[in-house]
Amino acid sequence: MRRYLTIDDVDVSGLRVLVRSDLNVPLEDGRVADDFRIRMALPTLEELVRRGATVTVCSHLGRPKGVDPAFTLRPVAGRMAELASVPVSFDAPVEGGITVLENTRFLDGETKNDPDTAAKLAEGQDLFVQDAFGSVHRAHASTVGVAEILKSVAGPLLDAELKALGRLLEDPDRPYVVVLGGAKVSDKLAVIENLLPRVDRMLVGGGMCFTFLKAQGKAVGSSLIEEDMVETVGRLMGEYDGKIVLPTDFVVADRFAADADSKVVGVDGIEDGWMGLDIGPETAASFASVVKEAASVFWNGPMGVFEWDRFRSGTEAVARAMAESEGFTAIGGGDSAAAIRALGLDGAVTHVSTGGGAGLELLEGRELPGVAVLERWVS
Ligand code: ADP
Ligand code: MG
Repeated sequence: MRRYLTIDDVDVSGLRVLVRSDLNVPLEDGRVADDFRIRMALPTLEELVRRGATVTVCSHLGRPKGVDPAFTLRPVAGRMAELASVPVSFDAPVEGGITVLENTRFLDGETKNDPDTAAKLAEGQDLFVQDAFGSVHRAHASTVGVAEILKSVAGPLLDAELKALGRLLEDPDRPYVVVLGGAKVSDKLAVIENLLPRVDRMLVGGGMCFTFLKAQGKAVGSSLIEEDMVETVGRLMGEYDGKIVLPTDFVVADRFAADADSKVVGVDGIEDGWMGLDIGPETAASFASVVKEAASVFWNGPMGVFEWDRFRSGTEAVARAMAESEGFTAIGGGDSAAAIRALGLDGAVTHVSTGGGAGLELLEGRELPGVAVLERWVS
C-alpha cells in the first residue's frame, strides 16, 4: 500500500492550495543570507500555479517566542519574488501567483499543534501540500494539525527526500557505505545503531571518531571526546567488528584555532596537548577510494573543522569522491550540505537532503508525524 498521495494524484486546477514549505533560511540585517531553501521550494509552488491552483505557502523561520519582527517572512517573500516566474505577495492574496504567509511560529498554538490554530490555517483552503521535509519530524499545527483537517498530499520535494533516504534503509545497492563525521557521537548515536546492521562499511571521521579511538584504548590528546559515550561505542565496535573503519592518520593542532600550529601524525602519534582537527591525507585517500567504489553512499558530517582552510582537506576529499562516484550518493546534515555546495559539487551527487533533524530521525527508523498523517488520505 502507498503511504501517501502526491500532487500528481490530484487535479489541483481551481483549488485553493496551502503548501507547507521549508523556508527557514538564515537572515542577516533583514536580508536572506542563503536562499538555498527558497530555490528548493519554488518549483513545487510554481508548478501548482501552472496547474491552475491558487497557492498560499507557509513556513516557520527561526525560533521566535511569539511575534517578533526579527523573524518575519517578509524578506523571504521578497527574495522569492526575485526568483519566481510568477507574482509573489506577502500576507495578501495575489491572482495567479504565490501568497507567502507570515511566520507560522507567530501563531499561538503552532508548536502545541493546537486545533484552533490548525483550523485557522486550513480556513478557505481546499488542499494541503506537505513539502517541508525539514519540519515533518515535528507535530505542529502547520505540519500535522492542518493535515488532519484538509485533504493532504506530499509535495515533490518531500516525496524525493522520502524516496532517496528510504533507499538507504530499505534495499540499498551494495556495497553500501556510510560516512559519518561532525562534532558529536551523541547527536548521531541512534542513526549509527540503526544503520550499522544495514551497511557494509561505516567510515567514521570528524570530531566523533576520537570517542571510538578512545574506546580502543588509544591516546587522543585534547581531541573532542564524549566520555559518557566511550562504553557504548566500544560495545558497537565489538558487535559490528570490521564494519566500522576509523582514520589511520590526522591533521593535529596545538589549539582550537584557524591559525594554530598543525602537523600530520599517525593514529598512534597524537601527543598530549594536541588535538585532531581533520583526518590525515592517508585516511582521506582511503576513505575516498571506498566511497568511489561503493554502489550506495550516505554521508553525514564533515571530516574535520572544514570552516578553517587548514582542516578542510578531509571533507573536500570525501565530497569529491561522492561527486565522482557512479553509484547512488546522498548527503544529509546542514554542514555537510554546505560543504558540498561550497565546492560547487552539489549537482554531481544524487541527493542533497534539505532536512537535518528530520533526515536523521528517518534514518533512526522513527516515524515522522508529518508524514504519518498523510496516510489517512490514501484511498
Ligand atoms: P552536519 O550539520 O553535517 O550534520 P554536524 O553539525 O554534526 O554536521 O558537525 C559539524 C561540525 O563538526 C562542524 O562545525 C565542524 O567544525 C565540527 N567538527 C568536525 N570535525 C571536528 C573535529 N575533529 N574536532 C572538532 N570539531 C569538529
Ligand atoms: Mg550541523
